Amino acid sequence: MKILIVDDSKTLVAGLIDSLHKKVKAEIFVAHSKQECADLLLQEKGKFDISILDLGLPDAPNGEVVGFVNKFSIPSIILTASKLDKNNENLSSSNVIDYVIKNGSYALDYTAYVVERFIKNLKCEVLIVDDSRSFLHKISDLCNKYNIKTKTACSAEEALTIMKERNNIKLILTDYMMPKMNGLEFTAEIRKEYKKDEISIIALSGSQDKQIVAKFLKSGANDFIYKDFSNEEFYARINSNLEIIQLFEEIRDRANKDYMTGMYNRRYLFEKGNEIYLNNKKDNLNLSCAIIDIDKFKNINDTYGHDIGDIAIKQVSSILDTHLDRNSLISRLGGEEFCILTKELNENEILEKYENIRKDFENSVLEIDDLSISYTVSIGISTKFYNDLDEMIKKSDEALYEAKETGRNKVIISRA
Ligand code: GH3
Ligand code: MG
Ligand code: MG
Repeated sequence: MKILIVDDSKTLVAGLIDSLHKKVKAEIFVAHSKQECADLLLQEKGKFDISILDLGLPDAPNGEVVGFVNKFSIPSIILTASKLDKNNENLSSSNVIDYVIKNGSYALDYTAYVVERFIKNLKCEVLIVDDSRSFLHKISDLCNKYNIKTKTACSAEEALTIMKERNNIKLILTDYMMPKMNGLEFTAEIRKEYKKDEISIIALSGSQDKQIVAKFLKSGANDFIYKDFSNEEFYARINSNLEIIQLFEEIRDRANKDYMTGMYNRRYLFEKGNEIYLNNKKDNLNLSCAIIDIDKFKNINDTYGHDIGDIAIKQVSSILDTHLDRNSLISRLGGEEFCILTKELNENEILEKYENIRKDFENSVLEIDDLSISYTVSIGISTKFYNDLDEMIKKSDEALYEAKETGRNKVIISRA
């Protein structure tokens, strides 16, 4: 992450850097004039993720630097001493995402907040639902400018299909009046599956009927925007809703995920896994439980050290991710041992999948500095329900033990 600051006030720049360091990890470059800005852009080949630009520079007193930086397609936040002059064509740049009036210390914190949101927004996807294509385009453009990826749907039905495919949508913006299913019915439908702290819903409507706002909030919408909004209001609401969702997500991740690998932990495996187990058992749907353990991992630690061992453990999740989709719940049981519950695949499909995974580990080489490290894994699988999830895991563990005993680098399905 590289940030460009252009401002001639050394005090302001020092304060701004301070505020930025509190919120984001980034390399910060400073120019005190348009000329210095030009030099930096040349030096860094125009590769900045975001810029913070002062309108009044000694060699560019009317915001000329904004148009200049815009040529490099760098998103900009404008710092100004007074309200923006709408007629200043230097400011018509499409890359300006926000402006901040420099008065007092909050202005700097606010600027840092905007930069933080800009970075965090990269991880978010927003679904926009409206039967007007021109409105979809308008909202989508606004979101994209703020680094937010978007999906669009012309109807609630289309949006529900998208929700089945995708699961990194954090916010839904929905219109009220739509043919067939309206925004209220759509909101209620989404809430059957996602709670208010998992996916935020903001309703947008042109109607001045105050009743609608109340109805939306009661059906599970988090917020409401009248369609004659200003861009500033739009961004403020989008950002604050995304911020809340991401805070909840961080808290959930802290409880449910393993810090080192980012994989689900043992606790979550038993909580969510049990839910999946009971659901699938009830309807007699396919479910498999696999335990993967790195072979002779102690040797890796002994030969290369614990830190390299850690990197090898982290590599496991990236290999598993390429083979398994959202039908699999992947968790780290502890140490170099992982448990995976997979829905929908039958025994033959499961066997084929894990044989491919085993081969992938066998053929992967981990390059760290001048070291080339490779290792194999053993896999034990159970595909029957037994009495409970614990027993299912135990049977996989026994199959894993057999794989270890009979030579390692093997996949074995429990026949017990
Ligand atoms: P086997 O093929 O029988 O599984 O042999 P192994 O050496 O992989 O198995 P063993 O259970 O004897 O050793 C596992 C080792 O993993 C011991 C422990 O020090 C190491 N280990 C456990 N957790 C971590 C970790 O988070 N990081 C690192 N680097 N090592 C770990
Ligand atoms: Mg091992
Ligand atoms: Mg082990």
